[in-house]
Parts: sequence; C-alpha cells; structure tokens
Amino acid sequence: MATLLDGKIMAAQLMEGLKSRVNTLKEKGISVGLAVILVGEDPASQVYVRNKGKACEELGMLSETILMPAQTSQEELEALIEKLNADSRIDGILVQLPLPRHLDEAKALRRIVPEKDVDGFHIENAGKLFTGQEGVIACTPKGIIHMLKEANVPLSGKHAVVIGRSNIVGKPIAMLLLNENCTVTICHSRTENLSAHTRQADILVAAVGRAKFVTADMVKPGAAVIDVGINRVDGKVVGDVDFENVEKVAGHITPVPGGVGKMTIGMLMENTVEAAERKAK
Ligand code: NAD
Repeated sequence: MATLLDGKIMAAQLMEGLKSRVNTLKEKGISVGLAVILVGEDPASQVYVRNKGKACEELGMLSETILMPAQTSQEELEALIEKLNADSRIDGILVQLPLPRHLDEAKALRRIVPEKDVDGFHIENAGKLFTGQEGVIACTPKGIIHMLKEANVPLSGKHAVVIGRSNIVGKPIAMLLLNENCTVTICHSRTENLSAHTRQADILVAAVGRAKFVTADMVKPGAAVIDVGINRVDGKVVGDVDFENVEKVAGHITPVPGGVGKMTIGMLMENTVEAAERKAK
C-alpha cells in the first residue's frame, strides 16, 4: 500500500513556519499583504478566493479581495493592477483565473510587476524558471516539489513523467523536475501509447482534468504518483487518479482532496511572504 503524501499535514507545517516569518517582519514594522482580484461570479473561483483570504487571516497578513463585475473592461482591470503595483501595503497580486472571455489574460498578467506576481505566471518569472534564474515559482508545481522532498522521494536521476502541458502546471513542473536532475517526459493529448510512457515513471504527475484517468495498470510498482486534477463528479471533488486501485501499486500517492491543492495555497502564502522579505531588504 502506498504511503500517503498528506497535503493537509504538510501545509499545516508550512503555515506554522510562515506565521513566524510574518511575525518577524511585523516586529520590524513591515506588514505582509496579498490582493486578490476576482472578475465575475464563477462559483469555483469564489471558493478559491475565499480560501486564500482565510489563509491570509490565519497568518495575520493583510488580505484585500477586490470583486469586479463580469463586464469589467481590459482597461479597468489593468488600471486596478497598476494601482496595486504602486501600493506599498501589497506584496502580492493575484488575478483569479479564468477571466471572462472578453478579457486578455496574458496581457493582464503582464501588467503585474514581476516582484508582486505571487502566482508566478508573469512571462518574466516563467522565463526565469526556464533559464535557471531565481524568480517567483508557480504555486502548484512548487508545492509538488515540496511534497516530494518532504517525503524524501529520490529525484536525481529518476524518470519523471508529466501528463499535461499547460503553462500553469504541466510545463513548469516538468522544468522543476528537470532542475532536480530528473529525466523528464511530458505527455499530452496527442501522445501515442500513453501508458507505455507512464509505466516507465518513477514519479508520475497527472495534470489532465479527467476523473480516474490514471489507472493502476498505467503505474510502475513503487512509483510516486502526484494527482493534480480537480474534477467534480456527482457533487464530489475527485482527482485524475483512480486512487482506490493505484494506491495498491504506487509507493507514494497524493489524495484529492487534501493533497496538492492544500499545498498550492500554502505556496501562495510562501511566495507572498518571500515578496515581503525582499521588500524588507
Ligand atoms: P489544462 O486543461 O490546461 O491542461 C490539461 C492537459 O491535459 C493538456 O495539456 C492536455 O494536453 C492534457 N490531456 C488532455 N487529455 C489528455 C489525454 N487523453 N491524454 C494525455 N494528456 C491529455 O489543465 P491545467 O490547468 O493544467 O489543470 C489540470 C488539472 O489540474 C485540472 O483538473 C485543474 O482543475 C487541476 N489543477 C489543480 C490545481 C491544484 O492546486 N490542485 C492547480 C491547477 C490546476
């Protein structure tokens, strides 16, 4: 039976450490602030935004949630970002995605000054990751590496297979695993004979967005299986991995819920605290 990589426990430990870093900053008279912009009324996004606010509260950070109507224009959104760029109380700016379709996501994200881009989606931070320079790393991939390291899963020289090639998960996690000296294969919707690849994986990351997509026969015995997926099935949140059967084969496995998602919020908080620490310097 696989060892569970428990996101709740790991995130709680991370939050403890962050709390004391926030307090150290406060003692120096420096506050830590995160601004979250939500455009429109997408119910899933509302839940994510609320959870981010709660995490800020837990750490004693300033949290500003700005709700904008669905018909907000590109100019209005960018003007708000500019205002937050200039606001010294705000260390991190997050634009909750997806934005309504009439808005240009990439253009909005480019408006955020890279130092306050705590999601790590700005092209400058993405470019830094891909060229091995220090920058802000996207929260979900950063959280995955944290979980693997906490559990002492060997990475160097191992074969990591990532299913999914999105800019927010698939590509950056592949790059981080490469930086950890893994041999990395990226699979996607056009990959032929997917399971032949996944069966070679010592570390298998599933970021597809389809319930029970990764079945036990696709997994090498003893592999570390990281489930990034968030799918709603009959009102329940499930991942991309057929957990019940894969846990019998894998060496390590993350649950959904209570796995990668928990770490994502923790890493958002860490990126914001790091931004405030840079400001303090
Ligand atoms: P996306 O839709 O942008 O990308 C999905 C990827 O899956 C694509 O690159 C596609 O090529 C690949 N894919 C689709 N069908 C496939 C197939 N049949 N075989 C192989 N590959 C296939 O999604 P995303 O933004 O990367 O998110 C992926 C999942 O992770 C979603 O369920 C999302 O909700 C979840 N997610 C979770 C967190 C978290 O914090 N836990 C964060 C971000 C995303």
